[in-house]
Amino acid sequence: MQVVVEPPAFRRALCRARAEGERIGLVPTMGSLHAGHRALMALAAAAHRHVAVSIFVNPLQFDRPEDLAGYPRDLGADLRACEEAGVATVFAPSDADMLPSGTATSVSVAGLGDRWEGSSRPGHLAGVATVVAKLFSLAGPCAAYFGEKDFQQLALVRRMAADLSMPVEVVGCPTVREPDGLALSSRNALLSPAERRAATVLWRALEAGRAAVAEGEDRPETVASAMSGTITAEPLASVDYAAAVDAADLTVPASLSQPAALRLLVAARIGSVRLIDNCAAPRPAEPVEDDRGLTAARAS
Ligand code: AMP
Repeated sequence: MQVVVEPPAFRRALCRARAEGERIGLVPTMGSLHAGHRALMALAAAAHRHVAVSIFVNPLQFDRPEDLAGYPRDLGADLRACEEAGVATVFAPSDADMLPSGTATSVSVAGLGDRWEGSSRPGHLAGVATVVAKLFSLAGPCAAYFGEKDFQQLALVRRMAADLSMPVEVVGCPTVREPDGLALSSRNALLSPAERRAATVLWRALEAGRAAVAEGEDRPETVASAMSGTITAEPLASVDYAAAVDAADLTVPASLSQPAALRLLVAARIGSVRLIDNCAAPRPAEPVEDDRGLTAARAS
């Protein structure tokens, strides 16, 4: 496994791999790797001889300095996880190399990038799109792997790649969860034991929303209230947003019977830690898939 820190060295390493006929699968991450990231690496490795993982805590996607400063980091453990996953190249650039001062270009996706995470965390999604575009440009991957855990991010990257004709397939990976339903997240490490117990409220809220949809509720606001009511009932939690949306563009439809597919979205603070989660919501006539995602044990 080669570890490169400078963008030109990353570009050269992957140019060399392509010249040798290898197909590259890219997994962009912010490090602090867990079983969710490992599932992405495994999916990439199943389809690509050369898996490249980027580890970059992107300052552009943090709207609060204290959130950026407190973000968990452990490069040594991350490199061990990459090695175990059979990763060929790790790219771990510095802020200054990745975002040199004087950078004047950013990528924003109108509409999709403005709602939910876009309005709760101004600048966040443009920060994601800009750095992902830069990673695509440096790496030249055939495919890039993103988790459904960050459903809006996945939709945004897909849209960006389509709109800008980027020659990369964007692949989504099911959310990896703890046995009690909590989606794995690097931020879970910041929860106290009591907050960790309370954090299951996101999954409980999604289950409440999903049950309402399965029973035939077609008013998005009623499903949203079922979810936000569940979160509000948890003393350590406060709701940021809860919504039932069209899975294609994340808009709220007039009736839940309209979209081709529905998605439920929640964002909440547990103490001072902000967490997000989402799931599909089959309507009465639709097949019910096991949407608990992968459990951490199965994904490892
Ligand atoms: P992050 O390091 O949090 O920026 O995440 C890097 C990638 O891993 C993103 O595409 C995330 O959506 C994905 N990811 C994070 N948590 C999970 C999870 N629990 N299950 C599946 N993918 C995840």
